[in-house]
Amino acid sequence: MTDESYPNKAALYEALATIGDALAGGLRRSTVPAGLFEEAPEREPESLEQRSAEPHDAASTEGRAPARAPFAASDSLESDRSEEIDTATALSALEAEVKTCTRCVLSSGRHKAVFGQGVIEPLVLVIGEGPGAEEDKQGLPFVGASGQLLDKMLASIGLYRDQNCYIANIVKCRPPNNREPSPDERATCMPYLRRQITLLKPRFILCAGRTAAQAMLGTAEGINKLRATIRDFDGIPLVPTYHPSALLRDESLKRPAWEDLKRLRSLIEAERGLND
Ligand code: SF4
Repeated sequence: MTDESYPNKAALYEALATIGDALAGGLRRSTVPAGLFEEAPEREPESLEQRSAEPHDAASTEGRAPARAPFAASDSLESDRSEEIDTATALSALEAEVKTCTRCVLSSGRHKAVFGQGVIEPLVLVIGEGPGAEEDKQGLPFVGASGQLLDKMLASIGLYRDQNCYIANIVKCRPPNNREPSPDERATCMPYLRRQITLLKPRFILCAGRTAAQAMLGTAEGINKLRATIRDFDGIPLVPTYHPSALLRDESLKRPAWEDLKRLRSLIEAERGLND
C-alpha cells in the first residue's frame, strides 16, 4: 500500500460499490433489515458468492484431513515440497505457533490465544481488536453478546463464519481488563495476521472498530472518519465500521453500521457482476 496508489484505489472501490449497488438493486434492498440486526434473516446461500472451503479453527482441524493433499504426487515431490504445503496445514502450523507465543506481555495473562475461525479463501475477512473475556475462555473470536450481534450483522448481507467468512483479531491474546492493545503489542502481533491474510486470500476485509481499522491502515484517523469510506490493504478492498460492542452501547450507531455493510455488499455484488 502506498500513499500514491491509495486515492486511486479508493476511488475505484467507490465506483465499484456504486456499480454493485445498481447490480444488486441497492435502493430496493436498502431498507433491509427493518429491525437492524435484531433478528438474523433466513440464510440465503445464493445471495452472495459462496466460498465452500474447509472451515478452519482450532477444533475443526484436529483429526481431520486437510482440504487438499499437502503435497503433489510427482517425481519432484521433495523439491516442490515447501511450495505445495497445503493452506490448512500452514494455518494449523501458524496457529500452533500463536498458541505458544510469548513475544509480548499479553501472553502472561491469557487462558487461550484466539487464532481465528472461518473458511479458507473467505469472501470476507472480519478483523476485530482482540479477544475479550469469553473469547479468552473459549479460544474463539467474537463469541458472547458482541459476537452474536456480529453474526447478525454479517447475516444481514449473506455472510456467515461457517460458509464464506473468516474472523480474526489484531492481537491474539486478551489485553487485561479489556484495555486497548498498545501500539507495541499490535505491532508485535501484526505479522501473524499478515501471514493469515497471505494464506487465507480474502476478497474483502471488514474492520470492526477503530483499533482494528487504525492498525490495518496505519492511520490515527478516528472511526467516524474512517467508516463510510472504502480503503485498501495490499490490494484488498477494506471497509471500516463500528465494533459490535459499540452498537450494543449505542443503538444509534446501528444505522450507520448498516450503511457500511451495504457498502461492502455492493463491492461484493460488483465483483460478482464483473465475473459473470
Ligand atoms: S498477543 Fe500476539 S504477539 Fe502477543 S503473545 Fe499473543 S500471539 Fe504473541
